Amino acid sequence: MIKRLLVANRGEIAVRIMRSCREMGIETVAVYSTADSDSLHVRLADRAVCIGPAPSAQSYLSMNNLVTAALHTGCEALHPGVGFLSENAAFAKLVNDNGLVFIGPSPEHLDLLGDKVRARATARKHGLPVTPGTDAVETADKAVESAERLGFPVIIKAASGGGGKGMRIARNAAELKENIAVASREAEAHFADGTVFIEKYLENPRHVELQILSDGGNVAVLGERDCTVQKNHQKLIEESPSPAVDSAMRASMAAGAVPLFRGLKYRGAATIEFLVEDGSFYFMEVNARVQVEHPVSEMVSGTDIIRAQILACIEGRMDIDPEKVSLSGWAVECRVNALAPGRVERLEIPGGPGLRFDSFLYPGCGVSPHYDSMVAKLIAHDADREKALDRMDRALGELVIAGIPTNIDRQRRIVNHPTFRSGGFGTSYYAEIEKEIEGAL
Ligand code: ADP
Repeated sequence: MIKRLLVANRGEIAVRIMRSCREMGIETVAVYSTADSDSLHVRLADRAVCIGPAPSAQSYLSMNNLVTAALHTGCEALHPGVGFLSENAAFAKLVNDNGLVFIGPSPEHLDLLGDKVRARATARKHGLPVTPGTDAVETADKAVESAERLGFPVIIKAASGGGGKGMRIARNAAELKENIAVASREAEAHFADGTVFIEKYLENPRHVELQILSDGGNVAVLGERDCTVQKNHQKLIEESPSPAVDSAMRASMAAGAVPLFRGLKYRGAATIEFLVEDGSFYFMEVNARVQVEHPVSEMVSGTDIIRAQILACIEGRMDIDPEKVSLSGWAVECRVNALAPGRVERLEIPGGPGLRFDSFLYPGCGVSPHYDSMVAKLIAHDADREKALDRMDRALGELVIAGIPTNIDRQRRIVNHPTFRSGGFGTSYYAEIEKEIEGAL
Protein backbone atom coordinates (compact mmCIF):
# COMPACT_ATOMS: atom_id res chain seq x y z
CA MET A 1 0.00 0.00 0.00
CA ILE A 2 1.08 3.58 -0.58
CA LYS A 3 2.16 5.89 2.23
CA ARG A 4 0.79 9.24 1.13
CA LEU A 5 -2.01 10.53 -1.09
CA LEU A 6 -2.99 14.01 -2.26
CA VAL A 7 -6.68 14.87 -2.15
CA ALA A 8 -7.23 17.20 -5.11
CA ASN A 9 -10.54 18.55 -3.92
CA ARG A 10 -12.27 20.45 -1.12
CA GLY A 11 -15.41 20.38 1.04
CA GLU A 12 -17.24 17.29 2.17
CA ILE A 13 -15.81 14.95 -0.46
CA ALA A 14 -12.23 15.82 0.56
CA VAL A 15 -13.17 15.11 4.19
CA ARG A 16 -14.84 11.84 3.14
CA ILE A 17 -11.74 10.65 1.24
CA MET A 18 -9.44 11.53 4.13
CA ARG A 19 -11.53 9.47 6.53
CA SER A 20 -11.05 6.31 4.47
CA CYS A 21 -7.35 7.04 3.98
CA ARG A 22 -6.82 7.43 7.71
CA GLU A 23 -8.46 4.05 8.35
CA MET A 24 -6.25 2.52 5.67
CA GLY A 25 -3.09 3.98 7.21
CA ILE A 26 -2.51 6.36 4.29
CA GLU A 27 -1.28 9.88 5.11
CA THR A 28 -3.18 12.64 3.35
CA VAL A 29 -2.14 15.96 1.89
CA ALA A 30 -4.85 18.58 1.47
CA VAL A 31 -4.81 21.34 -1.10
CA TYR A 32 -6.64 24.59 -0.52
CA SER A 33 -7.32 27.95 -2.04
CA THR A 34 -6.77 31.11 -0.01
CA ALA A 35 -10.56 31.14 0.62
CA ASP A 36 -10.35 27.69 2.25
CA SER A 37 -7.41 28.06 4.63
CA ASP A 38 -9.64 27.34 7.65
CA SER A 39 -11.56 24.51 6.04
CA LEU A 40 -12.18 21.21 7.76
CA HIS A 41 -10.38 19.24 5.04
CA VAL A 42 -7.25 21.30 5.77
CA ARG A 43 -7.53 20.60 9.48
CA LEU A 44 -8.05 16.86 8.99
CA ALA A 45 -5.14 16.30 6.62
CA ASP A 46 -1.64 15.40 7.74
CA ARG A 47 -0.27 18.21 5.61
CA ALA A 48 -1.78 20.99 3.53
CA VAL A 49 -0.58 23.02 0.57
CA CYS A 50 -2.05 26.30 -0.65
CA ILE A 51 -2.54 26.02 -4.41
CA GLY A 52 -3.83 29.46 -5.33
CA PRO A 53 -6.49 32.13 -4.96
CA ALA A 54 -10.22 31.58 -4.45
CA PRO A 55 -11.39 31.24 -8.07
CA SER A 56 -11.32 27.51 -8.93
CA ALA A 57 -9.70 28.17 -12.29
CA GLN A 58 -6.59 29.32 -10.45
CA SER A 59 -6.62 26.72 -7.67
CA TYR A 60 -8.70 23.53 -7.70
CA LEU A 61 -8.64 23.44 -11.51
CA SER A 62 -4.95 24.23 -11.84
CA MET A 63 -3.47 20.95 -13.05
CA ASN A 64 0.11 22.07 -12.67
CA ASN A 65 -0.36 23.40 -9.15
CA LEU A 66 -2.03 20.15 -8.05
CA VAL A 67 0.62 17.88 -9.51
CA THR A 68 3.43 20.08 -8.19
CA ALA A 69 1.86 19.97 -4.72
CA ALA A 70 1.69 16.17 -4.88
CA LEU A 71 5.29 15.78 -6.02
CA HIS A 72 6.59 18.35 -3.58
CA THR A 73 5.02 16.57 -0.60
CA GLY A 74 6.13 13.08 -1.61
CA CYS A 75 2.69 11.74 -2.53
CA GLU A 76 2.40 8.55 -4.53
CA ALA A 77 -1.22 8.91 -5.56
CA LEU A 78 -3.86 11.57 -6.15
CA HIS A 79 -7.59 11.29 -5.51
CA PRO A 80 -9.57 13.78 -7.63
CA GLY A 81 -12.86 13.47 -5.70
CA VAL A 82 -16.01 14.66 -7.46
CA GLY A 83 -16.42 17.53 -9.92
CA PHE A 84 -13.41 19.77 -10.67
CA LEU A 85 -10.88 17.59 -12.56
CA SER A 86 -12.26 14.20 -11.54
CA GLU A 87 -13.24 13.20 -15.10
CA ASN A 88 -10.59 15.13 -16.98
CA ALA A 89 -8.53 12.76 -19.13
CA ALA A 90 -5.70 15.27 -19.67
CA PHE A 91 -5.37 15.67 -15.91
CA ALA A 92 -5.32 11.91 -15.31
CA LYS A 93 -2.61 11.64 -17.95
CA LEU A 94 -0.54 14.43 -16.39
CA VAL A 95 -0.83 12.72 -12.99
CA ASN A 96 0.27 9.38 -14.47
CA ASP A 97 3.07 10.95 -16.52
CA ASN A 98 4.50 12.33 -13.29
CA GLY A 99 4.67 8.87 -11.77
CA LEU A 100 1.60 9.25 -9.56
CA VAL A 101 -1.38 6.90 -9.39
CA PHE A 102 -4.65 8.59 -10.40
CA ILE A 103 -7.45 7.18 -8.24
CA GLY A 104 -9.83 6.65 -11.10
CA PRO A 105 -9.91 5.00 -14.50
CA SER A 106 -7.32 5.39 -17.25
CA PRO A 107 -7.22 8.58 -19.37
CA GLU A 108 -8.53 6.49 -22.29
CA HIS A 109 -11.56 5.39 -20.30
CA LEU A 110 -12.20 8.95 -19.14
CA ASP A 111 -12.04 10.10 -22.76
CA LEU A 112 -14.38 7.38 -23.96
CA LEU A 113 -16.99 7.63 -21.19
CA GLY A 114 -16.80 11.42 -20.87
CA ASP A 115 -18.06 11.71 -24.43
CA LYS A 116 -21.76 10.88 -24.22
CA VAL A 117 -21.97 10.05 -27.92
CA ARG A 118 -19.12 7.54 -27.70
CA ALA A 119 -20.45 6.18 -24.40
CA ARG A 120 -23.85 5.57 -25.99
CA ALA A 121 -22.21 3.71 -28.86
CA THR A 122 -20.20 1.60 -26.39
CA ALA A 123 -23.33 0.76 -24.40
CA ARG A 124 -25.19 -0.18 -27.59
CA LYS A 125 -22.30 -2.41 -28.64
CA HIS A 126 -22.66 -4.29 -25.36
CA GLY A 127 -26.35 -4.83 -25.99
CA LEU A 128 -27.69 -2.26 -23.52
CA PRO A 129 -30.90 -0.48 -24.44
CA VAL A 130 -30.01 3.19 -25.04
CA THR A 131 -32.35 6.22 -24.87
CA PRO A 132 -33.49 6.66 -28.50
CA GLY A 133 -31.38 9.39 -30.03
CA THR A 134 -28.68 10.36 -32.49
CA ASP A 135 -24.93 10.54 -32.78
CA ALA A 136 -23.30 13.97 -33.03
CA VAL A 137 -25.60 16.36 -34.90
CA GLU A 138 -23.95 18.12 -37.84
CA THR A 139 -26.57 20.59 -39.08
CA ALA A 140 -29.87 21.95 -37.82
CA ASP A 141 -31.66 20.41 -40.83
CA LYS A 142 -30.28 16.96 -40.08
CA ALA A 143 -31.31 17.43 -36.44
CA VAL A 144 -34.88 18.19 -37.50
CA GLU A 145 -34.92 15.11 -39.75
CA SER A 146 -33.74 12.94 -36.83
CA ALA A 147 -36.17 14.55 -34.40
CA GLU A 148 -39.09 13.89 -36.71
CA ARG A 149 -38.02 10.27 -36.85
CA LEU A 150 -37.70 10.09 -33.03
CA GLY A 151 -40.86 12.14 -32.46
CA PHE A 152 -40.97 15.43 -30.55
CA PRO A 153 -40.22 16.45 -27.85
CA VAL A 154 -36.47 15.93 -27.97
CA ILE A 155 -33.66 17.04 -25.69
CA ILE A 156 -30.45 18.58 -27.01
CA LYS A 157 -27.40 17.54 -25.01
CA ALA A 158 -23.73 18.44 -25.07
CA ALA A 159 -21.54 15.40 -25.80
CA SER A 160 -19.08 16.60 -23.15
CA GLY A 161 -21.79 17.96 -20.83
CA GLY A 162 -22.29 17.31 -17.16
CA GLY A 163 -23.86 18.59 -13.98
CA GLY A 164 -27.19 19.09 -15.71
CA LYS A 165 -25.72 21.95 -17.78
CA GLY A 166 -26.25 22.59 -21.46
CA MET A 167 -29.47 20.60 -21.96
CA ARG A 168 -32.40 22.11 -23.87
CA ILE A 169 -35.79 20.68 -24.68
CA ALA A 170 -37.32 21.26 -28.11
CA ARG A 171 -41.01 20.57 -28.68
CA ASN A 172 -41.11 21.28 -32.43
CA ALA A 173 -38.88 21.85 -35.45
CA ALA A 174 -38.74 25.63 -34.99
CA GLU A 175 -37.63 25.30 -31.36
CA LEU A 176 -35.07 22.70 -32.32
CA LYS A 177 -33.57 24.84 -35.11
CA GLU A 178 -33.38 27.81 -32.81
CA ASN A 179 -31.88 25.92 -29.89
CA ILE A 180 -29.33 23.76 -31.60
CA ALA A 181 -26.91 26.60 -32.39
CA VAL A 182 -27.38 28.11 -28.93
CA ALA A 183 -26.79 24.73 -27.26
CA SER A 184 -23.66 24.17 -29.30
CA ARG A 185 -22.25 27.60 -28.44
CA GLU A 186 -23.03 27.02 -24.76
CA ALA A 187 -21.36 23.63 -24.87
CA GLU A 188 -18.29 25.15 -26.51
CA ALA A 189 -18.10 27.82 -23.79
CA HIS A 190 -18.64 25.41 -20.85
CA PHE A 191 -16.92 22.24 -22.00
CA ALA A 192 -14.60 23.41 -24.79
CA ASP A 193 -16.48 21.07 -27.11
CA GLY A 194 -19.45 22.25 -29.14
CA THR A 195 -20.59 18.76 -30.13
CA VAL A 196 -24.27 18.20 -29.43
CA PHE A 197 -26.66 15.33 -30.05
CA ILE A 198 -30.35 14.77 -29.49
CA GLU A 199 -32.36 12.24 -27.55
CA LYS A 200 -36.03 11.54 -27.38
CA TYR A 201 -37.26 13.52 -24.37
CA LEU A 202 -39.07 11.25 -21.95
CA GLU A 203 -41.73 13.32 -20.20
CA ASN A 204 -41.55 12.02 -16.66
CA PRO A 205 -39.09 9.12 -16.32
CA ARG A 206 -37.23 7.96 -13.24
CA HIS A 207 -33.49 8.33 -12.86
CA VAL A 208 -31.96 5.05 -11.72
CA GLU A 209 -28.24 4.28 -11.58
CA LEU A 210 -26.05 1.33 -10.63
CA GLN A 211 -22.99 1.64 -8.40
CA ILE A 212 -20.11 -0.19 -10.02
CA LEU A 213 -16.72 -1.10 -8.55
CA SER A 214 -14.12 -2.81 -10.65
CA ASP A 215 -10.47 -3.77 -10.24
CA GLY A 216 -9.76 -4.34 -13.92
CA GLY A 217 -11.04 -7.92 -13.79
CA ASN A 218 -13.86 -8.33 -11.28
CA VAL A 219 -16.93 -6.13 -11.51
CA ALA A 220 -19.15 -5.66 -8.46
CA VAL A 221 -22.59 -4.04 -8.56
CA LEU A 222 -23.68 -2.54 -5.25
CA GLY A 223 -27.33 -2.28 -6.23
CA GLU A 224 -29.08 0.76 -7.64
CA ARG A 225 -29.81 4.30 -6.52
CA ASP A 226 -32.91 6.25 -7.39
CA CYS A 227 -32.20 9.95 -8.02
CA THR A 228 -35.55 10.97 -9.45
CA VAL A 229 -36.14 13.91 -7.10
CA GLN A 230 -34.42 16.68 -9.05
CA LYS A 231 -34.64 20.43 -9.41
CA ASN A 232 -33.51 21.71 -12.83
CA HIS A 233 -31.92 18.30 -13.54
CA GLN A 234 -29.90 18.53 -10.29
CA LYS A 235 -30.38 15.76 -7.76
CA LEU A 236 -31.96 16.67 -4.41
CA ILE A 237 -32.76 13.36 -2.70
CA GLU A 238 -31.36 9.92 -3.49
CA GLU A 239 -32.31 6.50 -2.21
CA SER A 240 -31.30 2.88 -2.49
CA PRO A 241 -32.94 0.63 -3.53
CA SER A 242 -35.29 2.28 -6.02
CA PRO A 243 -39.05 2.03 -5.43
CA ALA A 244 -39.41 1.59 -9.20
CA VAL A 245 -37.01 -1.32 -9.71
CA ASP A 246 -37.93 -4.96 -9.08
CA SER A 247 -35.51 -7.83 -8.89
CA ALA A 248 -35.99 -8.71 -12.57
CA MET A 249 -35.14 -5.18 -13.75
CA ARG A 250 -32.22 -4.99 -11.29
CA ALA A 251 -30.80 -8.24 -12.65
CA SER A 252 -31.34 -7.16 -16.22
CA MET A 253 -29.57 -3.81 -15.67
CA ALA A 254 -26.61 -5.56 -14.05
CA ALA A 255 -26.51 -8.19 -16.79
CA GLY A 256 -26.04 -5.38 -19.31
CA ALA A 257 -23.66 -3.25 -17.25
CA VAL A 258 -21.20 -5.88 -15.98
CA PRO A 259 -19.95 -7.02 -19.42
CA LEU A 260 -19.44 -3.38 -20.42
CA PHE A 261 -17.08 -2.66 -17.50
CA ARG A 262 -15.45 -6.09 -17.74
CA GLY A 263 -14.92 -5.60 -21.46
CA LEU A 264 -13.22 -2.26 -20.83
CA LYS A 265 -11.07 -3.71 -18.00
CA TYR A 266 -12.31 -0.69 -16.09
CA ARG A 267 -10.60 0.24 -12.82
CA GLY A 268 -12.19 2.11 -9.93
CA ALA A 269 -15.69 3.32 -9.09
CA ALA A 270 -18.29 4.20 -11.68
CA THR A 271 -21.97 4.90 -11.99
CA ILE A 272 -24.03 3.81 -14.94
CA GLU A 273 -27.15 5.94 -15.27
CA PHE A 274 -30.48 4.89 -16.77
CA LEU A 275 -33.84 6.48 -17.40
CA VAL A 276 -36.74 4.22 -16.49
CA GLU A 277 -40.15 4.60 -18.10
CA ASP A 278 -43.12 2.21 -18.30
CA GLY A 279 -41.12 -0.74 -16.99
CA SER A 280 -38.26 -0.29 -19.51
CA PHE A 281 -34.83 1.14 -18.86
CA TYR A 282 -32.52 3.06 -21.19
CA PHE A 283 -28.81 3.73 -20.81
CA MET A 284 -28.08 7.43 -20.37
CA GLU A 285 -24.42 7.83 -19.40
CA VAL A 286 -21.51 6.64 -17.27
CA ASN A 287 -19.93 8.79 -14.59
CA ALA A 288 -16.37 7.52 -14.30
CA ARG A 289 -15.80 8.54 -10.68
CA VAL A 290 -17.30 8.25 -7.24
CA GLN A 291 -20.59 10.16 -6.91
CA VAL A 292 -22.03 12.55 -4.36
CA GLU A 293 -24.78 10.05 -3.55
CA HIS A 294 -22.44 7.07 -2.97
CA PRO A 295 -23.24 6.90 0.80
CA VAL A 296 -26.70 5.40 0.24
CA SER A 297 -25.03 2.48 -1.54
CA GLU A 298 -22.49 2.18 1.26
CA MET A 299 -25.30 2.05 3.83
CA VAL A 300 -27.24 -0.75 2.13
CA SER A 301 -24.16 -2.77 1.15
CA GLY A 302 -22.04 -2.21 4.26
CA THR A 303 -19.02 -1.26 2.15
CA ASP A 304 -16.57 1.61 1.94
CA ILE A 305 -16.60 2.62 -1.72
CA ILE A 306 -13.66 5.02 -1.42
CA ARG A 307 -11.54 2.31 0.16
CA ALA A 308 -12.47 -0.16 -2.60
CA GLN A 309 -11.71 2.46 -5.22
CA ILE A 310 -8.25 3.17 -3.77
CA LEU A 311 -7.45 -0.55 -3.48
CA ALA A 312 -8.61 -1.19 -7.05
CA CYS A 313 -6.47 1.61 -8.47
CA ILE A 314 -3.36 0.98 -6.40
CA GLU A 315 -3.27 -2.76 -5.93
CA GLY A 316 -5.54 -3.94 -8.74
CA ARG A 317 -7.77 -5.77 -6.28
CA MET A 318 -10.84 -5.01 -4.19
CA ASP A 319 -11.87 -6.22 -0.79
CA ILE A 320 -15.35 -6.87 -2.15
CA ASP A 321 -16.34 -10.21 -3.65
CA PRO A 322 -18.81 -9.46 -6.48
CA GLU A 323 -20.57 -12.77 -5.75
CA LYS A 324 -21.05 -11.91 -2.11
CA VAL A 325 -22.51 -8.41 -2.29
CA SER A 326 -25.49 -8.41 0.02
CA LEU A 327 -27.86 -5.49 0.23
CA SER A 328 -30.01 -4.83 3.25
CA GLY A 329 -32.63 -2.29 4.25
CA TRP A 330 -33.28 1.10 2.71
CA ALA A 331 -31.12 4.23 2.69
CA VAL A 332 -32.01 7.79 1.76
CA GLU A 333 -29.82 10.87 1.36
CA CYS A 334 -30.85 14.52 1.50
CA ARG A 335 -28.46 17.07 0.06
CA VAL A 336 -28.19 20.13 2.27
CA ASN A 337 -27.51 23.23 0.20
CA ALA A 338 -26.60 26.71 1.39
CA LEU A 339 -28.98 29.20 -0.21
CA ALA A 340 -26.47 32.01 0.38
CA PRO A 341 -22.89 32.22 1.62
CA GLY A 342 -22.15 33.18 5.23
CA ARG A 343 -20.77 31.95 8.51
CA VAL A 344 -22.12 29.02 10.53
CA GLU A 345 -23.07 30.37 13.95
CA ARG A 346 -24.42 27.20 15.45
CA LEU A 347 -24.34 23.59 14.32
CA GLU A 348 -26.38 20.78 15.85
CA ILE A 349 -25.81 17.43 14.17
CA PRO A 350 -28.44 14.69 14.48
CA GLY A 351 -27.38 11.33 15.85
CA GLY A 352 -28.76 7.99 16.86
CA PRO A 353 -28.95 4.68 15.03
CA GLY A 354 -28.72 4.43 11.26
CA LEU A 355 -27.65 8.01 10.60
CA ARG A 356 -24.72 9.58 8.86
CA PHE A 357 -23.77 13.23 8.38
CA ASP A 358 -21.08 13.96 5.76
CA SER A 359 -20.04 17.59 5.82
CA PHE A 360 -17.22 20.07 6.08
CA LEU A 361 -19.14 22.35 8.41
CA TYR A 362 -18.15 23.18 11.98
CA PRO A 363 -19.36 25.97 14.26
CA GLY A 364 -17.77 29.20 13.11
CA CYS A 365 -16.79 27.98 9.67
CA GLY A 366 -17.37 30.09 6.59
CA VAL A 367 -19.37 29.04 3.52
CA SER A 368 -17.71 30.64 0.52
CA PRO A 369 -19.57 32.07 -2.49
CA HIS A 370 -16.86 30.67 -4.76
CA TYR A 371 -17.81 26.99 -4.68
CA ASP A 372 -20.64 24.50 -4.91
CA SER A 373 -23.60 25.28 -2.65
CA MET A 374 -23.86 21.77 -1.19
CA VAL A 375 -22.60 21.93 2.40
CA ALA A 376 -23.70 18.59 3.83
CA LYS A 377 -25.34 15.26 3.13
CA LEU A 378 -27.63 13.64 5.65
CA ILE A 379 -28.12 9.91 5.20
CA ALA A 380 -30.60 7.69 7.02
CA HIS A 381 -30.77 3.90 6.90
CA ASP A 382 -33.39 1.53 8.26
CA ALA A 383 -35.14 -1.75 7.52
CA ASP A 384 -37.57 -0.45 4.90
CA ARG A 385 -38.46 2.71 2.98
CA GLU A 386 -41.07 4.01 5.37
CA LYS A 387 -38.80 3.58 8.39
CA ALA A 388 -35.86 5.16 6.59
CA LEU A 389 -38.00 8.18 5.62
CA ASP A 390 -39.34 8.50 9.18
CA ARG A 391 -35.77 8.45 10.41
CA MET A 392 -34.80 11.10 7.85
CA ASP A 393 -37.73 13.26 8.94
CA ARG A 394 -36.62 12.97 12.55
CA ALA A 395 -33.00 13.75 11.65
CA LEU A 396 -33.86 16.78 9.49
CA GLY A 397 -35.87 18.04 12.45
CA GLU A 398 -32.80 17.77 14.69
CA LEU A 399 -30.36 19.33 12.25
CA VAL A 400 -29.61 22.99 12.99
CA ILE A 401 -27.31 25.05 10.81
CA ALA A 402 -27.71 28.62 12.05
CA GLY A 403 -26.11 31.58 10.31
CA ILE A 404 -26.70 30.54 6.70
CA PRO A 405 -30.02 29.93 4.98
CA THR A 406 -30.38 26.30 3.85
CA ASN A 407 -32.87 24.01 2.14
CA ILE A 408 -33.37 21.82 5.26
CA ASP A 409 -37.06 22.77 5.64
CA ARG A 410 -37.76 22.21 1.95
CA GLN A 411 -36.16 18.78 2.09
CA ARG A 412 -38.25 17.88 5.12
CA ARG A 413 -41.42 18.87 3.28
CA ILE A 414 -40.51 16.62 0.37
CA VAL A 415 -39.67 13.72 2.68
CA ASN A 416 -43.17 14.02 4.18
CA HIS A 417 -45.02 14.78 0.95
CA PRO A 418 -47.65 12.12 0.16
CA THR A 419 -46.52 11.62 -3.46
CA PHE A 420 -42.90 11.15 -2.40
CA ARG A 421 -44.02 8.80 0.36
CA SER A 422 -46.06 6.77 -2.15
CA GLY A 423 -42.91 6.09 -4.18
CA GLY A 424 -44.73 6.80 -7.45
CA PHE A 425 -43.23 9.87 -9.15
CA GLY A 426 -40.97 10.96 -12.03
CA THR A 427 -38.27 13.53 -12.67
CA SER A 428 -40.81 16.36 -13.05
CA TYR A 429 -42.18 15.67 -9.56
CA TYR A 430 -40.32 18.47 -7.83
CA ALA A 431 -41.32 21.06 -10.46
CA GLU A 432 -44.94 19.96 -9.94
CA ILE A 433 -44.87 20.46 -6.17
CA GLU A 434 -42.39 23.34 -5.96
CA LYS A 435 -45.07 26.01 -5.42
CA GLU A 436 -46.77 23.95 -2.74
CA ILE A 437 -43.45 23.35 -0.96
CA GLU A 438 -42.26 26.94 -1.23
CA GLY A 439 -45.69 28.30 -0.31
CA ALA A 440 -45.78 26.31 2.90
CA LEU A 441 -42.47 27.72 4.12
P1 ADP B 1 -25.64 15.48 -16.71
O1 ADP B 1 -24.50 14.63 -17.18
O2 ADP B 1 -25.50 16.91 -17.10
O3 ADP B 1 -25.99 15.27 -15.27
P2 ADP B 1 -27.60 13.57 -17.65
O4 ADP B 1 -27.49 13.08 -19.04
O5 ADP B 1 -27.08 12.70 -16.55
O6 ADP B 1 -26.92 15.01 -17.56
O7 ADP B 1 -29.11 13.95 -17.32
C1 ADP B 1 -29.47 14.59 -16.13
C2 ADP B 1 -30.98 14.58 -15.96
O8 ADP B 1 -31.63 15.19 -17.08
C3 ADP B 1 -31.61 13.20 -15.89
O9 ADP B 1 -31.55 12.65 -14.61
C4 ADP B 1 -33.04 13.49 -16.32
O10 ADP B 1 -33.79 14.08 -15.29
C5 ADP B 1 -32.84 14.53 -17.40
N1 ADP B 1 -32.74 13.88 -18.72
C6 ADP B 1 -31.63 13.57 -19.41
N2 ADP B 1 -31.92 12.99 -20.59
C7 ADP B 1 -33.26 12.91 -20.65
C8 ADP B 1 -34.17 12.40 -21.63
N3 ADP B 1 -33.77 11.85 -22.77
N4 ADP B 1 -35.50 12.48 -21.34
C9 ADP B 1 -35.93 13.03 -20.20
N5 ADP B 1 -35.12 13.53 -19.25
C10 ADP B 1 -33.80 13.48 -19.47
